[in-house]
Amino acid sequence: FPSRLPHVGTTIFTVMSALAAEHKAVNLGQGFPDFGCDPALIDSVSRAMQAGHNQYPPMTGVPALREVVAQKIEALYGKRYDANSEITVTAGATQAILTVILSCVSPGDEVIVLDPCYDSYVPNIELAGGVPVRVPLTPKTFRPDFGKIAAAITSKTRLLLINTPHNPSGTTWTAQEMQQLQDLLAPTNILLLADEVYEHMVFDGERHESASRYPGLAARAYVVSSFGKTFHVTGWKVATVAAPAPLTAEFRKVHQFNVFTVNTPMQVGLAEYLKDPAPYLNLPAFYQKKRDLFRAGLEGSRLKLLPSSGTYFQCVDISAVTDASEAEFCQQLVKDLGVAAIPLSAFYGNGFDQQVVRFCYAKKDETLLAALERLRKL
Ligand code: PMP
Ligand code: GLN
Repeated sequence: FPSRLPHVGTTIFTVMSALAAEHKAVNLGQGFPDFGCDPALIDSVSRAMQAGHNQYPPMTGVPALREVVAQKIEALYGKRYDANSEITVTAGATQAILTVILSCVSPGDEVIVLDPCYDSYVPNIELAGGVPVRVPLTPKTFRPDFGKIAAAITSKTRLLLINTPHNPSGTTWTAQEMQQLQDLLAPTNILLLADEVYEHMVFDGERHESASRYPGLAARAYVVSSFGKTFHVTGWKVATVAAPAPLTAEFRKVHQFNVFTVNTPMQVGLAEYLKDPAPYLNLPAFYQKKRDLFRAGLEGSRLKLLPSSGTYFQCVDISAVTDASEAEFCQQLVKDLGVAAIPLSAFYGNGFDQQVVRFCYAKKDETLLAALERLRKL
């Protein structure tokens, strides 16, 4: 029977994690922490289970969680969302993104993504019958090129996807870039999906430029956050979408027939845990230390460090080490030196290869040191 996604295979993250296991490699490929979460969060969820929060929650999410998320967004970004009509709890950002796209993209609508982009975006657009329009970020510096974005806009453009802090590059959008985007979209009715799952990993004292800070963007945006990244629990798959009430209403029509609800005890536990802002306010310092440890270990090696101002990813230029493609290099690296990385070409539509690979440094210091010892042999 005809495939709905003929070009899609197994994701690069699954492939590289399997190769890492096969070669007993240090896995700096797929993005996930190799350390535990705060025991207080586990206690909070287990108390929720023991207190009997084990049946379906409301379709839109546990009210206490939506309320504390609304308060957090207001405190951090100065935008008040209505917890009842503008915030929805989802089964991870992955479900949030698919549901946004299914709820607003009709067959034939064009959707602009900025390459390199997270691997689920384009298949999601295709599943909705939309037409993905890939606009490259600037090579190696990964900045938005507003001339190119403007040139890609047509009367059929329905939605634009942005991601800051950015996976895979680790770059973050500046206030000026957000302002430029706001100006560019002002005369249009294009919707915006702002993937902000790494919102609490912005370094060097910079602030996260959430779309919700910009009234002209917030009025047309679905802002996606994920607790998996923030609290070191990527396997829990709980996230939120904040969007103006009319967009949220359409989103929920799809959400209710997609997952209907998200597991109750995690939501109740997270609502309690989120009352204390310290865990997410301390996250930039926590990851900045890991970034600096990893970067210091590569300083002076033939892997050229690219800037990393956010996320838990560090990209390096491999051109001084090899003439091989990114994918070949990653295959060799895992087999010969026992370190897994991700080729950036996996995030581009046309396999564009700029000899850059991505390492994830959300790892115990000892894991990073073990990887660095191997990488310094290059
Ligand atoms: N967007 C980006 C940019 C991501 O890096 C990820 C996780 N790797 C997701 C979305 C999906 O997040 P979740 O695990 O909450 O589904
Ligand atoms: N988002 C993670 C990454 O970029 C992986 C998630 C996944 O395996 N789909 O590495």
